Amino acid sequence: MNKSPFSMNLCTVRGIPVRVHVTFFLLLIWVALQAEGSDQLAPFREALFVLALFACVLLHELGHALTAKQFGVKTRDIMLYPFGGVASILGNPSPKAELFITAAGPLVNVAIAGLLYVLSSVITLHPFFSQLLVANVVLAVFNLIPAYPMDGGRILRATLLLLKVKGATMIAAKLSQALSVLIGLAGLYFGNALLVIIAILVFTNAMQELVRSQARVVAKDHTVRDVMADLAHIETFSHGLTVSQALRTALRSFQTVFPVVHAGQVLGVVDRSQLIQMGASEGTEDYISSIMARDFRIVSPQEPVENLMRMIEENDVRSFLVMEEGRLVGLVLKDQLIEYLLVNELRKQRLEEGRQAREDEDPLA
Ligand SMILES: [Zn+2]
Repeated sequence: MNKSPFSMNLCTVRGIPVRVHVTFFLLLIWVALQAEGSDQLAPFREALFVLALFACVLLHELGHALTAKQFGVKTRDIMLYPFGGVASILGNPSPKAELFITAAGPLVNVAIAGLLYVLSSVITLHPFFSQLLVANVVLAVFNLIPAYPMDGGRILRATLLLLKVKGATMIAAKLSQALSVLIGLAGLYFGNALLVIIAILVFTNAMQELVRSQARVVAKDHTVRDVMADLAHIETFSHGLTVSQALRTALRSFQTVFPVVHAGQVLGVVDRSQLIQMGASEGTEDYISSIMARDFRIVSPQEPVENLMRMIEENDVRSFLVMEEGRLVGLVLKDQLIEYLLVNELRKQRLEEGRQAREDEDPLA
């Protein structure tokens, strides 16, 4: 299920697993060690404040995840990192759903700040809570910056899509990158390393988001047959091969997964990385049938590529065997699939731009 080995389960909220990355605990220790103050309780107070802040971050992520649930959109998990939380929303929600799901996060922080503000007008708040109020306002404002991966970037894209603006994702991604340059420059000017890191994160995320959303769009028009590598272009292993024999082929190939076949039947799959690892250690005279994985994803040539994209996102599947009438006819690898979709999308855009340019030149046409 694509779980980071450096994370642990915290709890499950309405079926959504909440996980904490181990580096989060390093942050707590660091904050406690940095604590200034004459009294011995200062480190605990600082650590407690970080915990309270992250409770607000968790509520923000739950805002996303539970709103997604309302729209029938699943969330793989919520992960808490030292730099904030991430709710992994699956699939491709409609622009309207995306708008609601995304806006729900910052709204939670606005609600918490509002609640604390109302309380502060009735009773005198402990500085701890006034700090928490300010922190929630900062969280809401920061998240509303219209740049990926911030919520503001998604809100902007969903709004543009709802307004039927052409190239909405491209506009949102370009704006994100422009903002990241500004954030980066501000970071350099003020000598703030955190701002520079955020700028880099925003810049790379904007590109990734663009790539991902375009791949999803193109996936709609293709079936497995369009994207698969057929038998003539893939290496398969006979089940009687030894690891060292297989390794020789694997080292000369870019293929990352090899089907193991016997009399036209697929028995399992072997990973290239696994072969290389075994080659470096012992057991090279073992048969590959003893190391192959027997659980593999089978798809038919008629299957829409959209379904494959979903499996890649939800279950981190990296390869698909294409079978027709019980026989292996091809292979689809994740990286190659995404490349195929992107190149196709770019080609389509070039063609459209070319047509547009010709129309502009000749307005009478
Ligand atoms: Zn958010």
